[in-house]
Amino acid sequence: MNTVNAYATQSAGEKLAPYAYELEKIGKEEVDIKVHYCGLCHSDMSMINNDWGMSQFPLVPGHEVVGEITAIGDEVKGLKVGDRVGLGWSSASCMHCDQCMDGSQHLCNTVEGTIVGRHGGFADQVRGHWSWAIPLPKGIDMKKAGPLLCGGITVFNPILISGVKPTDKVGVIGIGGLGHLALKFLNKWGCEVVAFSSTKSKEAEILEMGATKVINSRDPKELESIAGSLDFIINTTNVKLDWDSYLKTLAPKGKLHTVGAPMDPLEIPAFSLISGQKTVGGSPTGNPSAMKTMLEFCVRHDIYPIVEEFKMEDVNKAIQHLKEGNARYRVVLEA
Ligand code: NAP
Ligand code: ZN
Repeated sequence: MNTVNAYATQSAGEKLAPYAYELEKIGKEEVDIKVHYCGLCHSDMSMINNDWGMSQFPLVPGHEVVGEITAIGDEVKGLKVGDRVGLGWSSASCMHCDQCMDGSQHLCNTVEGTIVGRHGGFADQVRGHWSWAIPLPKGIDMKKAGPLLCGGITVFNPILISGVKPTDKVGVIGIGGLGHLALKFLNKWGCEVVAFSSTKSKEAEILEMGATKVINSRDPKELESIAGSLDFIINTTNVKLDWDSYLKTLAPKGKLHTVGAPMDPLEIPAFSLISGQKTVGGSPTGNPSAMKTMLEFCVRHDIYPIVEEFKMEDVNKAIQHLKEGNARYRVVLEA
């Protein structure tokens, strides 16, 4: 018997409590990971609250895991016991559909979310398919690497898929867990980066992270001051904002890309797209190869999230801290 000691919520919106479950015999292509650290993403909160209607309880959140492989199935490729790996939002995909075959495993129709219908990383162990256990580069800081596995890749992948150029002027909306990583990535990518934030007290730190300017994300008047200037904007907030004002900050052919998941529909007037040939898009996380590329980029440029560490047993305090908007900038739980 292999008992996992985890923290779970028993129904929507409830506090987490210790929860133990048994792992069945390991599958041929699966790996077991001893959790060292796990980041706390806003998506964990949305899953705890069942905001997206897909939570199954008891629910063990946690999908920004870094740790060490403790067991592997007979047909695992390229990994061995003792390897240090990370596991993000996805932990299995079919490996034979068109999306998987062209390297878009994160778009597989049957991709498995680490905390969707299975138990995640707020635990001493977590299990996944070998292809989503991403080898960590030598020398990476384990304490800070967890948030790269979901928050990081979610904002790094749009830079790749949207073809953002070093000469571009870009914007990041919401400087939280994802947003502050987006800022750091885009700065090292070579771009001029404008930050849109609703929290005045973050301003000095945001400028230190590499933004050239901070604009109040909730004030359309301030947005007018940069009308027509940005080639690309990434939104990481999950709230209703004046989206038309953001479209007006885009230069012709500019793109507004959302990874944040507001519950209200985005209100987009057709003419705001038509006149400047602008586009609106979105994306989920990224594929395992993009995750490896991102981790190498992080080590090369010394890009890490700014983290606040909590013990796993203090998970409820950590959740409260994030809920109150006090996280600077990503909470990480130590197992
Ligand atoms: P987070 O750390 O809570 O950051 C969100 C930021 O949004 C806050 O720090 C804040 O930044 C801003 N914000 C919050 N309330 C606001 C308000 N009322 N008005 C204006 N701005 C507000 O969350 P996160 O972990 O970065 O996640 C962000 C979103 O991305 C969530 O919706 C999450 O579910 C989603 N997500 C999506 C994917 C994907 O695959 N697409 C992956 C991971 C996460 P300022 O203080 O700077 O205003
Ligand atoms: Zn996440």
